Amino acid sequence: MSPERYQRIRQVLERRQTDLTVCLENVHKPHNVSAVVRTCDAVGIHRVHTVWEKKYQFRRGTAMGSQQWVRQTNHDNINDAMAELKGQGMQVLVTHLSDTAVDFRDIDYTKPTAILFGQEKYGASDEAKAVADHDIVIPMMGMVQSLNVSVAAALVLYEAQRQRTIAGMYNTQQLPEEECQALAFQNGYP
Ligand code: SAM
Repeated sequence: MSPERYQRIRQVLERRQTDLTVCLENVHKPHNVSAVVRTCDAVGIHRVHTVWEKKYQFRRGTAMGSQQWVRQTNHDNINDAMAELKGQGMQVLVTHLSDTAVDFRDIDYTKPTAILFGQEKYGASDEAKAVADHDIVIPMMGMVQSLNVSVAAALVLYEAQRQRTIAGMYNTQQLPEEECQALAFQNGYP
């Protein structure tokens, strides 16, 4: 690997936001998972959480293999995922099509934040909604009720990226230096 490539990897790792994450709750279509993870990489998310519950009989891990730049933690159920995220001191936001949900642009994403996106057909579970700090909605003005989950994720994540850029949060390395070095080496350097 060339020194330029190494520099590029370092630059990416130094901007990773360890206190901003996404939880995909039984989102199972490979192209949706893949598109969300790609956006996560683009806004500097270090780790994505996935929940694939047995009752849905989805193929676990679909489409995540090639996403080498974003780490993945899988959970067997939503309660475990919520407990871990809350335990890390994250505010948990559940994207939800409800009249009482807060406009997604009215949230402070500079706080440690986990954003949950729900299943393609059924949306977020009641369990997730019960523990959420806020339900957030992307206002819809048309005939269709909802956006594709990967489109919804892109909109919310770029609002988070906008706020974090203004706050200068991409200028401070969050990943511990040892982890940065380990990841750079894992990805082929030197
Ligand atoms: N019938 C489902 C429901 O009532 O939630 C629709 C699910 S939607 C196709 C899949 C996911 O995309 C949702 O769970 C949510 O995470 C996200 N989503 C789509 N449109 C949204 C919107 N306007 N506001 C917030 N989240 C949205």
